[in-house]
Amino acid sequence: MKLDFKCLKCGCEKYYVRTAILPEKESGLKIEMGTYYLKICSECGYTEMYSARILNKDKKKEKDNSLEPKTESNS
Ligand SMILES: [Zn+2]
Repeated sequence: MKLDFKCLKCGCEKYYVRTAILPEKESGLKIEMGTYYLKICSECGYTEMYSARILNKDKKKEKDNSLEPKTESNS
């Protein structure tokens, strides 16, 4: 996983990533297990949580976009 990160609390750019499995209760009684990425600031411990399901969705979108010719002006 590659995400830009700057800690909201202390501005540190160092972090480590952990994966967490959490139960997700949707409408009804069914409980599914969802995967989350935790980005933990190595300085103060502030944690951001991302849904892996949505991140993976974005990845697919990026793939579709990469089929189009790239226009890079500020390189
Ligand atoms: Zn921090």
